[in-house]
Amino acid sequence: MKKGKKIYEGKAKIIFATEDKNLAIQHFKDDATAYNNQKKDIIEGKGILNNRISEHILSNLKQIGIKNHLVKRINMREQLVKLVEIIPIEFVVRNIASGSLTKRLGIEDGTVLEYPLIEYCLKNDELGDPIVSREHILAFKWMNILELDWINEEVKRINDFLQGMFRGVGIKLVDFKVEFGRSQINEKNEIILADEISPDTCRLWDANTDKKLDKDRFRKDLGNLIEAYQEIARRLDILHEQTNIRPLKFTKPKAVKIKKK
Ligand code: UDP
Repeated sequence: MKKGKKIYEGKAKIIFATEDKNLAIQHFKDDATAYNNQKKDIIEGKGILNNRISEHILSNLKQIGIKNHLVKRINMREQLVKLVEIIPIEFVVRNIASGSLTKRLGIEDGTVLEYPLIEYCLKNDELGDPIVSREHILAFKWMNILELDWINEEVKRINDFLQGMFRGVGIKLVDFKVEFGRSQINEKNEIILADEISPDTCRLWDANTDKKLDKDRFRKDLGNLIEAYQEIARRLDILHEQTNIRPLKFTKPKAVKIKKK
């Protein structure tokens, strides 16, 4: 699939058009940003790991019936995806209190929530992605009530699946953020999961030690971000023997002489 014009460039990804109007190429950059773009850096190899991890998670979600934009991974940094119109709401699901929730409401970091908590944030960098209520979403018609209720159920299913998947490899899913988009294929309108699910968009703690294995390593200057993302990929069994994110060097096989009989 030929890469066309750049349609959109975000903080960590670029979306390119393709020759098919319904499909796009999602390119994962190495850029890391936090605190509404105030903290920035380039972390070599992050895009490659997020591409692999997000591909793994979205293809597993597809297998349990969660429709999403992933068509296939094309190369180390790129995926072919369905082109969608992103709904301007970030859906945050929390199982354990951390990050902005603790600051906003004074809840102690690490408090286990009895039920998953869903929060909505308006996707608007200038306003710092403010938290909004269900009533705001309906009042300003970012979604209708049926769409909102359907997405609420969908994020709960995603949370159940991800929690189980990560628990199985000794990781606590503290919280995560997802985005949905409207796709229009063959005149059929549907809402599907889009964007990415990776350690950039989740909080993931080691189940035994509570060691952070996600973007908080960058936010809080803890270092070893790539090692943490590699650990996630290794535990999910998607990196196998490849411990170095740089392309493996293959040596040319030596010619073998075949003796004539
Ligand atoms: N998150 C994200 N993108 C954002 C904001 C949050 O992926 O623009 C993720 C974040 O990585 C965490 C969860 O959503 O897993 C909850 O984030 P929180 O509201 O605590 O915000 P933060 O502490 O990142 O400001």
